[in-house]
Amino acid sequence: MSLYPSYPPNLTAEQLSYLITSFTDYSLSHGLIVRPAPTFIPTNPSNSLATPAPVTLWPSPFPRTHFEEARSLQPFYNLLYARVASDQSWLGDLNTSLSLVDDFISKLWAIHTRLKSENGYHHKYFLGLFRSDYMVHTSDSEFAPLGIRQVEFNTIASSFGALASKVSELHRYLWRSGAYPPTAEYINDLSLPRNEALERLAEGLAKAHEVYIQDVSPEANYTLETAASIGPNSSYGIMFVIQDGERNAFDQRWLEYHLTQKYGIRVFRVTFEEIRKYTHHVRPNYELLFVPPHAFDGKKQQVYEISVVYYRAGYGPGDYPGQEEWNTRYFLEESRAIKCPTVLTQLAGSKKVQQVLAEKRNLEKFIGNERGEEGVADRIFETFAAIHPMDESEAGLAARKLAFEEPHRFVLKPQREGGGNNIYKDKIPEFLRGLEEEKWQGYILMELIQPPEIENLVMRNGEMMQGKVVGELGVYGAVIWKDAEDGEPGDIDIVYNEEAGVLLRTKGSSLEEGGVAAGFGCVDSCVLV
Ligand code: ADP
Ligand code: MG
Ligand code: MG
Repeated sequence: MSLYPSYPPNLTAEQLSYLITSFTDYSLSHGLIVRPAPTFIPTNPSNSLATPAPVTLWPSPFPRTHFEEARSLQPFYNLLYARVASDQSWLGDLNTSLSLVDDFISKLWAIHTRLKSENGYHHKYFLGLFRSDYMVHTSDSEFAPLGIRQVEFNTIASSFGALASKVSELHRYLWRSGAYPPTAEYINDLSLPRNEALERLAEGLAKAHEVYIQDVSPEANYTLETAASIGPNSSYGIMFVIQDGERNAFDQRWLEYHLTQKYGIRVFRVTFEEIRKYTHHVRPNYELLFVPPHAFDGKKQQVYEISVVYYRAGYGPGDYPGQEEWNTRYFLEESRAIKCPTVLTQLAGSKKVQQVLAEKRNLEKFIGNERGEEGVADRIFETFAAIHPMDESEAGLAARKLAFEEPHRFVLKPQREGGGNNIYKDKIPEFLRGLEEEKWQGYILMELIQPPEIENLVMRNGEMMQGKVVGELGVYGAVIWKDAEDGEPGDIDIVYNEEAGVLLRTKGSSLEEGGVAAGFGCVDSCVLV
């Protein structure tokens, strides 16, 4: 049984065919698209073919109170993770022991320790474009939603903001145009929330660009407002670090278009390899200069100072096939440009940090009553599911026992991002047996959240699939901060702190993973109930 049994409404063949035509044409004409997989379209001359992104035909019902709570918590989550990212000694304790068992974490952490022992950091400001992911939790016996539970917190390359905004607009258009029948339950102008993720994420990047220029060149009197009216300032730009062959390029492109068209900011999409070829530092302040081959006319070379390095790559080991890529990451980290995120901010988003914060006294170290933030830690704590360490502490030994005795209640997670890395339920014992025991502490054991099942239809590459689905709500946050002068570790000054729109991802309820890019899930929007 699903939670909203009469949803979505049954359509006649004519209604359905009209809806699908409206849906597909809207997606294609509004850039709600992805590059097709090579297995789907083997030849793609000049990379000119695209296909509608996988999207639900209907918005999915989502409880309004939980939706609003998740959004209103986001500025506090931003603050929490900015503080964690700035507490080098606290992160050091965690990452030094993780480094013993996890090569990827070890290499990231080594960038920080090497920087500290060599030339030090040169950036002053930090930008986080975060996404806190939740599922609605229900109890075994009843369908009533109990609350939201956090799946994970992302601090690097949080994607799909632009496409999510466009899906909200698509679903609203289908309602307004009459492609959804007027009898469709729940759907009306008030129940479809606006989703400004694209605008707000772009605004976060633009603000960081402004903060950078005001810091390095106060005499220029640069502001976004004046820049927008006088056109592009051609000496500064934002760098998007991307993967070769990215299929989700349009989600990133929309951010770029917004930055360029609304704020007059130039954006450069570069791979690690291109960074090696076309960038250098200027000492003593380590400004990051980009010398793009497309900006050479045979005589004159245009050079850009990079204000913000925005990573849409670099979150997993696959992006670092060799030492060259690690050197490139070090080179960027050492620069004066604002990094979104820094290595430390990336490490603050690890599953291990999430597990440690799920112990209330650790959470309260960073946020809450002691800092005059009345009730905030309680509200954040309410969104946590049980997460256990897998180390040799007392709690860790108890969790190891649970992992073997009651695996069906849990998911086992390594310190990885991007989907497809977790081990579920009954596969956990076998997996652990195949792994040296010293390495177990590199994982965390998380209680499975039980989201309610909903009916929906998913369109993928022009084919329709119907069935039971579950949703995962992501709330974006944009935050800019700097270390407080003469402060304690983790004391920061906030320059900008905003909730930045939402993402609803939906997957078949029998599937364990729901990554859109990983090919399992699709982008959805909320109809509030
Ligand atoms: P990643 O960083 O790779 O995205 P996640 O922690 O988000 O890792 O896990 C990937 C997916 O696995 C989630 O999108 C969700 O579908 C599922 N998942 C993760 N944790 C849980 C959980 N505690 N309960 C239910 N499903 C989960
Ligand atoms: Mg995830
Ligand atoms: Mg993640």
